[in-house]
Amino acid sequence: MFGIGNEINASTLAGLAWQPEAAPLRDGLATAADRTSVADGVSRMLAAADRASAGPGRETGGRELVASEDSVTAGGVRDAYDLQLYRNPDGTYALELDMSIDFNFVDGEDGLDWTADEKQQFIEDYKQVVLESWDGHAITTDDGQEVELSINLDINERRSGLFGGVLERLDGQENWSVDIIRIEDGGFSQSYVIPSQNKGVFDSEDVKPVNKGATDPQVGAAHEFGHMIGLPDEYNGSAGPEAAKDTDSIMHTGMDVRERHLDLLETWIENLD
Ligand SMILES: [Zn+2]
Repeated sequence: MFGIGNEINASTLAGLAWQPEAAPLRDGLATAADRTSVADGVSRMLAAADRASAGPGRETGGRELVASEDSVTAGGVRDAYDLQLYRNPDGTYALELDMSIDFNFVDGEDGLDWTADEKQQFIEDYKQVVLESWDGHAITTDDGQEVELSINLDINERRSGLFGGVLERLDGQENWSVDIIRIEDGGFSQSYVIPSQNKGVFDSEDVKPVNKGATDPQVGAAHEFGHMIGLPDEYNGSAGPEAAKDTDSIMHTGMDVRERHLDLLETWIENLD
């Protein structure tokens, strides 16, 4: 669960105060000088979207795309995910975080091979544990606008063999590529992510809870997802002394997602207008 290790340094932490690269639909919109509220800014963006005949388009179901950015840099992680801000028909807002991940299933030692069923089960369990922790939280901007976080994971098994390798190079659209090593049931292996390379190494036990002394046992995959959206470890002080004391936090040794874990997303919304 350390993982970030050497990757965490002053520049990574400075990246927490990150700015979105560029949000579409900014033409003719407010500058920082005449910024009013997010809600107001959002309405102006909606007006701009209406004027743009070939804008980002509308979804079925009536929700409207307000702003989007592909390949968002978050906490120093380049191309961590894509973001889309939607306005729902009832006037509420939703921020969709899309992350595509390639899973490369690696057989373990002593004949510990992945079966097709085990792979499928791991993918399902992974989605479930990540969504249970991270999906559906409310982000409240400084201006009081509430936005519901919606996480969408697109997980594919990496194609193997020569032809598969060629297809992967032609494709190459995933945000993250993760090796999943088959280990013994109940075993332990140190999992980690390498933010600078958009890579990770997990194992077959990472979707199961492990008691680390916090109120709730921690599921490794849910903690590692925090790194994949740009967050540092908290138990080693990388996120400051206050977070270092918060043992129940998901970036510490527990499972609780805190407001600070969504600050990068909140800032992205606040910087749109
Ligand atoms: Zn960690």
